Amino acid sequence: MDERSEDEWEKTLTPDQFHVLRKHGTERPGTSPLNYEKRSGTFKCAGCGAPLFTADTKFESGTGWPSFFTPIEGAVATTTDRALGMTRTEVHCAKCGGHLGHVFPDGPRPTGLRYCMNGVALEFEPKQAP
Ligand SMILES: [Zn+2]
Repeated sequence: MDERSEDEWEKTLTPDQFHVLRKHGTERPGTSPLNYEKRSGTFKCAGCGAPLFTADTKFESGTGWPSFFTPIEGAVATTTDRALGMTRTEVHCAKCGGHLGHVFPDGPRPTGLRYCMNGVALEFEPKQAP
């Protein structure tokens, strides 16, 4: 685990990143430029830089949030979230614990899962040209 305190996180993250990653916030749908990111590469945690998703697992869900059908193995962890009177599965970074979004069982093949991520919690690193 990344052992930074909430104060340290607040200093190193933007206000939007802090709200989502550390306060379980949700960005407004359609606001993330990563919705339109089509290049190959890696989506990393905006908090600690851990690689979380590869571009070839991203799909267009139509929700307005960047969506993936599977994470990089071991990169994320989940907990049950009963906020707002709904039972949802929360997804967070396995390394720093930062809140990323939720996972829903209505995704495409092959996993049938939809990892619905806040774009502000991610940073995209395009694949280097060979
Ligand atoms: Zn992280």
